[in-house]
Formats: sequence, C-alpha cells, structure tokens
Amino acid sequence: MEERYLALYPFITEASAYVSGLGFSLERLITSRAMDPARSRGVERVLQALKGDIEKPQFLASDDRKVLIELLSYPFSRILVSCIGDNFLIRRYALAEAVSCYKLLHSEPYEFICSIASDFHVDVLFSDHLFDIHFTDYIRLASSMKALEWKLVNRKMQKGHVYISKEELARLLQEAIRDRIQGSLPLDVSEDICQMCAPYISQIQTELQQIKENFGSGDFGAVESSMFPPCMVHAMANVRAGVNLAHSMRFALTSFLLNVGMPVDDIIAMFNVSPDFDLERTRYQIEHISGSSGTSYKPPSCSTMRTYGNCYGADELCSRIKHPLSYYRRKTWFNRHKHEASQQLPFSEKDNE
Ligand code: SF4
Repeated sequence: MEERYLALYPFITEASAYVSGLGFSLERLITSRAMDPARSRGVERVLQALKGDIEKPQFLASDDRKVLIELLSYPFSRILVSCIGDNFLIRRYALAEAVSCYKLLHSEPYEFICSIASDFHVDVLFSDHLFDIHFTDYIRLASSMKALEWKLVNRKMQKGHVYISKEELARLLQEAIRDRIQGSLPLDVSEDICQMCAPYISQIQTELQQIKENFGSGDFGAVESSMFPPCMVHAMANVRAGVNLAHSMRFALTSFLLNVGMPVDDIIAMFNVSPDFDLERTRYQIEHISGSSGTSYKPPSCSTMRTYGNCYGADELCSRIKHPLSYYRRKTWFNRHKHEASQQLPFSEKDNE
C-alpha cells in the first residue's frame, strides 16, 4: 500500500510494520527537533478528537515529508492518550479516529475497502454494487450496532452471505477500527516517557477537564440536568463516552430530553459522538419523537425501563415515583422551594405520567 494510505489509515497492520521499519526510537520521536511537527500533529489529533472530529490531511504526490509527519503523529498521539490513561479520553479518541476513517472510506474504490476489511480478517466480495460478507463476520462487525436495521433478521441473506452497501460496510469497518484502537489503549508507557511528554499532556488535560466540567454542569439552557434521574444521567454519560445505547434506551433518553424542554438541535449535538451517528437519520428520528408526524411521545415508565434493563442506579427519590419525568419534576420543584418551610408536594405520591 502507498505510504499516503498508511498515513491515512495508520491503525492497519501494514502501517505499524512500516513505522517500525523506519527505525525511529521512541526517544527520538519525543525529543528530536526534527520530530516537532509530528508531535504537534499528535497533540492536535487528540485535541480534535476531544472536540469530536479529527481532520485528515490531503496529500499531493510530492508530500513525502507531510506523509511521514502524519504517520508518526499517530503513535505519538497514542502515547499521550496512554499517559493520561483516562477512559473517557480513550473512548473519545478511538471513536474520533474511527469516524474520520469512515468519512474517507466513503470515497475509496471498492478494492481498497476490501483490503481494509481483510486487515480485520473479513473476506468481502463485490458484485452488482453490493458487498457480500459471511454472516458470521457480519454478526461480529455489527455486534455493537443497536439500531434495528442492523439486526441480522433485517438483512438480505443468501446461503450464509449478507449483502450490504458500500456505506454500510464503511460503517461496520468504523466499528472494527474503533474496537481495535480502543482495545489497544492504554499502551504500557513508562513513567519517564510520560514525564518527557508532560508539556504536551498538560494541554490535553486542560481541554479534557473543561469538557468534563461542561458535561457535569449540564449547560442546557433552561433544562436542569442536575435534576435528571440516575438512568438518564447514566445514559447521557454513555453517549458522551461514545457507547452505543440500546434502541430502547435511545428512545427513552430522547423522549425524556424532549419532554423536559431540550431543543432538537442540542439533542442532535449530544448524539454526535455515538458510533453509529448519522445526522439526517438522527434528526428525522428526534423530530418524529417530538411530534412532527402528529404524535408526540413520552418516555417509558419506570416499570417498562426496568423490563428492558434501562433502570440504572435508582436512588431514594426513585422509590417514590413511577416515571422518570416525575423524578425530574419533583426534584426541580424541591430544589426551587427548598428554602420554604412547607414541604408540600406539588404532585400526588402516586403520580404517574
Ligand atoms: S426508578 Fe425510574 S427514574 Fe429511577 S433510575 Fe429507574 S427508571 Fe430511572
């Protein structure tokens, strides 16, 4: 494979063998002035990942130096992420690397996509504008995709083979890439190496802290996220960390947020880090739940949430309510009136949405 492809898809086996063959020592990568651009790009990769999107460079035929910098920036960014060792950062970073490759894969020729698939031990054939993969590979690749359309029963299958579009194969490979990167982190990096990287690490930690604080304070305008029930807090933390929610929990969270007044665009922005994020489809689904088709939806009751395994971390207030919206309303009311002597409840003990 040409070097520029190795630089754009640095997680593939051939790319890591190529970098090893260059003979750069870790110390040289971290201390040499000539490696400054690779280190800067490595930091940029991680910072961009925290913001959600790693921008891939475009290479001209004469860009050998730029290709080398891009290639070496990948191991450096992995060292930085490993030294910080934060699970949220690892998930965000792996997801952003995978999504940036997914966007590139869209425009690659089918032979190239097949070669990336083979790096994940998936044999793919291409005919009649569709890719054909064995159903066992399909199940393996689609295991973290929670939307119903990815279930095997909803796919066209013949003689043990599943037929998928280029877009769908790219999406499945995105998951495989994310798994590979996430599963390989943190690397076992020595304390000395992390010390040498300290100036780069501090930039990332500052940004990471900021993002976590923003999340904790829940900057949702009039919506008070600190009043959310534990199940919704847990689901939102998962979304932010790039974990794909089960279909039932995705519906529960979306309808809950709409019912407490969060704007559609803010909910879309929140889902923008999900592994199977698709802007148009997400907007359509959220607008549908909000009532664009004439029916607006409420989140499921606590008992339905329990049935689907979506009740998580129930606290004392949960024992007195039957619906996640009741939890929010009661907690918000108490918070606003806690200075008042009267503890009169604004809702009946049995309130049910
Ligand atoms: S009891 Fe209800 S509100 Fe509380 S965590 Fe479970 S589902 Fe959520």
